[in-house]
Amino acid sequence: MSAQAEQQEQGCSLAESDRRYYLEVMGIQTWQSCHGSDMEQSPVPQSQIVQAEGVIEASAPVLASTSDVSSMDWSQLQQAVSSCQLCELHSSRSNTVFGVGNQHAELMIIGEAPGADEDLEGEPFVGRAGQLLDAMLKAIGLDRQQVYISNILKCRPPGNRNPHVSETLCCDPYLQRQIALIQPKMILALGRIAAHHLLLSQDALGKLREHLHNYNGIPLLVSYHPAYLLRKPVEKRKSWQDLLRLKQQLTAM
Ligand code: URA
Repeated sequence: MSAQAEQQEQGCSLAESDRRYYLEVMGIQTWQSCHGSDMEQSPVPQSQIVQAEGVIEASAPVLASTSDVSSMDWSQLQQAVSSCQLCELHSSRSNTVFGVGNQHAELMIIGEAPGADEDLEGEPFVGRAGQLLDAMLKAIGLDRQQVYISNILKCRPPGNRNPHVSETLCCDPYLQRQIALIQPKMILALGRIAAHHLLLSQDALGKLREHLHNYNGIPLLVSYHPAYLLRKPVEKRKSWQDLLRLKQQLTAM
């Protein structure tokens, strides 16, 4: 068995030196805890699980095409996204940004919307925020090929403005279908926009990241968006705690 296959089979087991390297890339200082390693932190207690009520019903857009989308296979879905003109964003995009990774991933990561780099390349999280995301994943023994990465929006909002609600509603059936096809064991929502859309919540991100949520039966954790971490590196330590919790949840499943 190759070293990589062995590592995949073992889940997150990373050499300590590799883990430290990636933490350094993330800008997180490491030390040995006198109460054991960070990885030994307990998973979120069941009592903290918060239900996201009526997510499907409440976020289901009023679009004639929704029922068609919900029965599409991967290639039909990809085709539908690449030719989508349901909202105005189609007129300013260079490429649609469908999603990338393992279609049988245990972990699905959902960000906000493509930025300039993603719009040019047609792949999510390839710019600076994406490089940080890759380092964050590596720090818990995962890489891009193992997880599935997507966004709430498949097209870039001009000037990276926040998505309009109408745009998120137009795009939602595509994301719902991706989730249904992948059937991930866990979802990680990155940033306020993704968390608010998925959880139908207006709570502060700091509050949302404290709980393990239930998204239509799929455990969902919330953490900081890598672009935010680039602007506010001091929050990387909290983001690392989120990643450890995520890894522990995944391992416990
Ligand atoms: N930010 C996101 O939320 N998604 C991307 O794909 C890139 C940056």
